[in-house]
Order: sequence, then C-alpha cells, then structure tokens
Amino acid sequence: MTTDTSVDQSDDDRTRDDANRLIVLLRTLLAESSDIVQHLEATTGLRFSRLQQSFWPVLDQARAAHEALAVSAAGVELAPPRAVASATEAHVILARRTEAMASGSRPEPCDDYIVYRLGRPDPAAQIGPQDISPPPLPPLPEGERPQCGKETQTGLPCRNRVQSIEGRWASGCERHLDDHEKAVYEREKSQGLAHSQALRKAQQAARNKAASVTAHRWLQTMIAVSTAETSLAD
Ligand SMILES: [Zn+2]
Repeated sequence: MTTDTSVDQSDDDRTRDDANRLIVLLRTLLAESSDIVQHLEATTGLRFSRLQQSFWPVLDQARAAHEALAVSAAGVELAPPRAVASATEAHVILARRTEAMASGSRPEPCDDYIVYRLGRPDPAAQIGPQDISPPPLPPLPEGERPQCGKETQTGLPCRNRVQSIEGRWASGCERHLDDHEKAVYEREKSQGLAHSQALRKAQQAARNKAASVTAHRWLQTMIAVSTAETSLAD
C-alpha cells in the first residue's frame, strides 16, 4: 500500500488553518456576545451583571484554547505531562510549554487574533482629552516617599509617609501638612476624584459606543440572513 504524503500534508495544513480560523471566530463571537450584553444593559436600563461576568472565565478558557492550538500546530516542545488524564487540557498544555521554555524567547502564538483585535476600535483609544476633565494631576515626585518625621502626641516622630502635592513631596503626612499644603492637598484630592469619575464615565461611554457598533452589525446580519432565507423560499 502506498501513501501520498503531499496530500496528507495538505490535509493537515487545511485542518490546522480551519482550526485556527474557527477558534478566532469563537473568540470573536464570545467577545461580541459580551458587547451585546453591554448594549442591552445600556439601552434597556436592566442589569445583567451575572451574565456579563460569566463571559470572563469563558473568554479566558477560549484564549487558552487558542494558544494551546497555536502551540500544538507550531510543534513547540512541551515538558512531559504531570497527569496523563488532563494532559490535553489547554491550560495544561500551556503550563507544559512554559515549563519547557524556561529559557529563550517565546513566540507570540496568536497573531491572527491580535490582528483582528487591532482591526476593532479599541474603546480606550476612543477617549479624547475633551472627554475627561479636569486634567490629570502632576506625576508623583521621583525617589522613595520620605517618612513624615513630625512629632506626634506621644512625642515620637510620625512614621507615616509624606503626601505629594503639586508634583513634589509635602513637608508631612496627611495629618501633619501645614495650612497652605492642606489647602492644596484638599484641592488636588477633589480634582483627582473628579478626574477618575470623568475617566470612568468616558470609558463607559466608549464601551457603550463599541457595543452599539457590534449590536448594529449583528442586527444587520440577522436582517441579511432573514432576507436570504425569504428569497430562497420564494
Ligand atoms: Zn505625620
């Protein structure tokens, strides 16, 4: 009996390519399903927190499955399985890969998915400076945060770390600022709170916008499928 290795190789390649496309599609649909739940929450005012949270472990498992498929297809050397019963589980394969590749560079196995994600609008990138006010606070001063050292009621030096204000270390901790520093600190603290609230609001709006784009595409697809089915039935 003879075997045609070129056909076998070609079939293997096709199977591997199909598997890669399907896992990318799976991850895409899962990520978009999460978008749809987000959109439903934004448009109906109802909360689906548990449904939304249930996507997180599933997305993680799908990511691991994608990486395990890529590792398997690339023929990356794996450490021997520790437990034969679970040796093919995605996370186990990845752990064996990590163990085997304790040294040396690690190739990025999920190029296709990353390319897909780059093609999608990143909600974080949609946030412009105009969406967030007031402007971010000055960065923390360099170096280790000094101890306060001011005398406490017990007569011992205060061991708290000093506050930072106006991009420099203040003369003391929150309890031991002088009056001018206290005023500046309170102002910056409320600015910081307002800034993080504005940032959260802008992030939510950007996520809602991205989710709405996904929802629109899903509805368009449903309409297209429904139209195609109707014309086939005619
Ligand atoms: Zn102090």
